Amino acid sequence: MESLKKPVGRFAPTPSGRMHLGNVFAALMAWASVRSRGGSFVLRMEDLDTQRTAKEYADLLREDLEWLGLDWDLETPPQSQRSEVYDRYFACLAEKGLLYPCYCTRSQLHSVNAPHLSDGTYVYPGTCRNLTAAEQAAFGRDPAWRVMVPDKIWKLHDLCRGDYQQNLAAECGDFVVRRADGVYVYQLAVTVDDGEAGVTEVVRGMDLLSSAPRQMYLQELLGFSHPEYGHLPLLMAPDGRRLSKRDRDLDMGALRRRMTPEKLVGSLAYSAGLLEKQESISAAELATVFSWEKLRRDNICPENLFSGKSCFSPKI
Ligand code: GLU
Repeated sequence: MESLKKPVGRFAPTPSGRMHLGNVFAALMAWASVRSRGGSFVLRMEDLDTQRTAKEYADLLREDLEWLGLDWDLETPPQSQRSEVYDRYFACLAEKGLLYPCYCTRSQLHSVNAPHLSDGTYVYPGTCRNLTAAEQAAFGRDPAWRVMVPDKIWKLHDLCRGDYQQNLAAECGDFVVRRADGVYVYQLAVTVDDGEAGVTEVVRGMDLLSSAPRQMYLQELLGFSHPEYGHLPLLMAPDGRRLSKRDRDLDMGALRRRMTPEKLVGSLAYSAGLLEKQESISAAELATVFSWEKLRRDNICPENLFSGKSCFSPKI
């Protein structure tokens, strides 16, 4: 029976720097959610952007996860080694007649005066959808490839955010699945990787919620079932800023020098509403207190990780 199946969760970091508090939070919640129900956990390095990512960061990531007390049942091959796999799925989309080459330049795309999704995606107006073969050849360069999207509303019930919907045609437009340099884009790779690994639950930051409908569309086209989604609240600094990789005092190098794993796990769990009082707990204990009902829905300020500053202190 479907409902009795054990969940399969995953953590899919981009090894482009030392793990940051935001990644730590996503890893902990994704892990605790499936472990609390006896499910399994998959790790995957998302290193499609080989210019920005490095093996050294992937090694540090694993070490930081272990320090936190997290474990995984399987690490699937990094995306940079899977382009032949993605080729097959790309061919499958091509066979369906859903792909077309796009020659638009970055500046052309940016000048498109259309609404865009929260991730900065412009609604692609379909400029290259109906080019003739002669028009395509006249560009004389390699194109990116876009998948056509239907005028249809994609609905999901997010474990954290509740109901969410998006009409891809109106809010996103045909989107790129392979770049002009032959590199596959995140949307395709993540769909294939999660699908092949049998992931049933995708837990990650709120900033990726608007990507979920694109992934659901590709899942449908490529024959994968839809996972459940849980898009986590973002972590904020006491002055209301969103935390970023630039906050070096909150990367794992700095955090590990300042505190124990239990203090870090406990502080995040408390800020997220999973603990009633501030206390130190292990990752294993986190799995016993985790519940989607308790998890806060609004932005989270892990105050006690900032030495003495209050979440509500005015910006100086
Ligand atoms: N690789 C992405 C990141 O590090 C996460 C992608 C995902 O979880 O779907 O932000």
